[in-house]
Amino acid sequence: LVVADVHANLAALESVIEKAHPFEEIWALGDLVGYGPQPNEVVARLRSYKLRSIVGNHDLASIGKVDLSTFHPDARLACQWTAGELHEDGRRFLEELEGAALFDDVSVAHGSPRDPIWEYVSSLEVAVTNFGHFATQACLIGHTHVPRVYRWLGGILGPDAFSSSVPLSNSAIELGSDRLIINPGSVGQPRDGDPRAAYACYEPETRLISFHRVEYDVDATQIAIRQAGLPDRLAARLQYGT
Ligand code: ZN
Repeated sequence: LVVADVHANLAALESVIEKAHPFEEIWALGDLVGYGPQPNEVVARLRSYKLRSIVGNHDLASIGKVDLSTFHPDARLACQWTAGELHEDGRRFLEELEGAALFDDVSVAHGSPRDPIWEYVSSLEVAVTNFGHFATQACLIGHTHVPRVYRWLGGILGPDAFSSSVPLSNSAIELGSDRLIINPGSVGQPRDGDPRAAYACYEPETRLISFHRVEYDVDATQIAIRQAGLPDRLAARLQYGT
């Protein structure tokens, strides 16, 4: 099970786990916490499975490892709140993670292979310049909260060699001869106008990556955000997937 940007949204994570079952392990692509109201619960739930994880900018901000001044005020407030909530074992777990790694034969990075913590791969142009920064066939990323597949056809060059597509729910692609940069979308705060939680599944035997969306109890997370005193905008946006 491949999850990105869970952002302390426990209801979304539970729906994803339930729908994706059975799976052998979880690969988390960073930003486990920040924005959402259940950082300890989400970290513990992910760790209740065999988990491989990298770290994202919001995780680092929530453990005091990056400067908060560049964050949007709502995000900054949420990271400061998370810092006060995180239990010691969750904090230590996040502290030991890298921003990029190799999981089996797949590269993973939170932002981009070139700049794992900060760069947003939000256009084909940015994706094209990132293919030179990882050595495997495919790289899984998060950070933009938007599902996308960037493809480099068979390593040839030229304007037609690269393409970008939006993976539909329940569709799958094969890790074949093309090189791929794949964003499964966000579990806990989708931003593509679809409020359903997004995730992917990878089957090493068939080398298929499938993409999925699942509805979750948005109300429950909104109530918890408001009860925690987090900015109301962080609750409102979940309804629209923005
Ligand atoms: Zn994020």
